[in-house]
Amino acid sequence: MTTQPETDAAPSSRPVVDCVVVGGGPVGLLTAVFLGQAGLRVSVVERQPRRYPLPRACTIDHEALRILQAARFMADHAGLFEPSQGERGGYEFRNGKGELLQAIDWNRTAESGWANTNGFYQPDLEAGLEQQAVATPGVRVHRGWTLQSLSQDREGVTAALAPTGRPGEIAQVRSRWLIGADGANSSVRSQLGIDVGDSGFEADWLVVDYQPLAEEKWSAFVTQYCDPAQPATAVNSGPGRRRFEFMRRADTTVEELGQDAAAWRLMAPWGVTPQTARLERHAVYTFRGRWARTWRSGNAFLAGDAAHLMPPFLGQGLCAGLRDARALTWRLAMVHGGLATPAVLDTYGPERSGHVREIIDEAVAAGRIICELDVNRAAARDAEMKKHFRDADAATREPPHPRLGEPSLTVASGGADGRLAPQGRVRVAERVGLFDDVVGGGWQLISRIGDPARLLGDKDASWFRQIGGVTADVSGAGPVQDLDAAYERWFDAHGCEVFLARPDFYVFAAGQHADIPRYVSRLRQALQPVSSTGK
Ligand SMILES: Cc1cc2nc3c(=O)[nH]c(=O)nc-3n(C[C@H](O)[C@H](O)[C@H](O)COP(=O)(O)OP(=O)(O)OC[C@H]3O[C@@H](n4cnc5c(N)ncnc54)[C@H](O)[C@@H]3O)c2cc1C
Repeated sequence: MTTQPETDAAPSSRPVVDCVVVGGGPVGLLTAVFLGQAGLRVSVVERQPRRYPLPRACTIDHEALRILQAARFMADHAGLFEPSQGERGGYEFRNGKGELLQAIDWNRTAESGWANTNGFYQPDLEAGLEQQAVATPGVRVHRGWTLQSLSQDREGVTAALAPTGRPGEIAQVRSRWLIGADGANSSVRSQLGIDVGDSGFEADWLVVDYQPLAEEKWSAFVTQYCDPAQPATAVNSGPGRRRFEFMRRADTTVEELGQDAAAWRLMAPWGVTPQTARLERHAVYTFRGRWARTWRSGNAFLAGDAAHLMPPFLGQGLCAGLRDARALTWRLAMVHGGLATPAVLDTYGPERSGHVREIIDEAVAAGRIICELDVNRAAARDAEMKKHFRDADAATREPPHPRLGEPSLTVASGGADGRLAPQGRVRVAERVGLFDDVVGGGWQLISRIGDPARLLGDKDASWFRQIGGVTADVSGAGPVQDLDAAYERWFDAHGCEVFLARPDFYVFAAGQHADIPRYVSRLRQALQPVSSTGK
């Protein structure tokens, strides 16, 4: 059943909602949950009357799970995610003969306190997010409505919506902000006239999801079979599920590749047959690397696939979209609450686009290795990769960890600024758990030397609390115990004693304990709280 969006008879009067989110995919839904939790009135407009029933993403990283934790999603849904662990975990490249060419260390608990890589079933994630969005006060999800056009003035955005398939029945909705989370062919992006950059990478791949009927043995969580005769990917896609992906060769049409028979024929060499597996679905996708050149126009923003597309070889497209959701919503929430100047919205696009461009480049580079069809070039690639693989230091490679793009809302302070901040397991009195749950998410001021609050004057300390900041001494002398030495390792690796992290877990500043007052004062300047300017 569709619901009528809240409409405004006089679109130029006060906004009816604070934010319209166009697109009820995972990014739009999470965006709405965060904004609703911050007290904004949000309308999600989704053109499909029913949820998309097929998975696209099947792996999700530690940082994305921390973002879902911040939305209070993980408390009830941690079981949806199957971590890469044990001898069958990790990510590897093999050649046509099955020889190992490279291993990437994805088989561990990572900086964010969650497993580095996790398999999951996207329709379950989307169902959970939609349930949560609908249950969040202030959020309404309008399925079966399509954005037709939008216009802007100084005060906000007017969205013209119509029931899907009945474009003449327009309803106008006014909002202060609008977010286009409307996927790869974003109509918000087109309406805003935003240009798209292109990596030039393009390849058709068949994606086959199946449920094994018998126990299967795989050497890794994700294996890229770099076989010039038939490039393929095998991946764990969540509890009880597996996925194969096969590149389309020039001698096969998209139609031929889209047949059941093609899926079974291509999986047969791995022993996956109608006797050993139940086919869930298959579809052919064109993998590309693209990005929006700007992510904001006036009071309208882009997020998720609307802002960036990448080939899925690193499993990062959705993760990047969830990062967008967090990065944009903490800013909007602070501006809405009068805790930050609207100028903080200016850094959303540059920060996120610089970060995601590095990941797109890396996914495209992986694609160029995997998709090589020329036998001689593939042999040269194999020899080169094997040579590196024999080098113990190069044998395992870290997954990408880009810095935020510039200009960013950070303080240049020795290299860790703009990088991902850690989350460890802590004990406070009788309570054991992840830091964000036990001490608090949001702004975090964490030191390994002593209590950061002691170095703050009363005014700064009370302002920091007002913006939702928490402070902690993880040296062991205070009430917060760093149970697995996650903070100690991070401080050692970055050669510092303290960090101030933002609600999206990126480091605002990091350095020496004595720098604490300066960092908080720089943060205050950067946010320029409207209510306390000049005081
Ligand atoms: C084969 C494949 C494998 C992948 N694997 C991974 C992986 O392992 N890990 C990973 O992180 N990512 C992966 N991805 C990427 C990931 O699936 C996407 O990045 C993610 O689903 C995008 O979510 P979104 O919410 O931005 O967009 P979508 O999920 O596309 O949602 C956009 C929504 O907007 C709606 N909409 C569009 N236009 C309008 C309009 N005018 N009005 C109203 N509504 C509108 C659409 O109906 C849709 O529901 C993969 C992608 C593919 C194709």
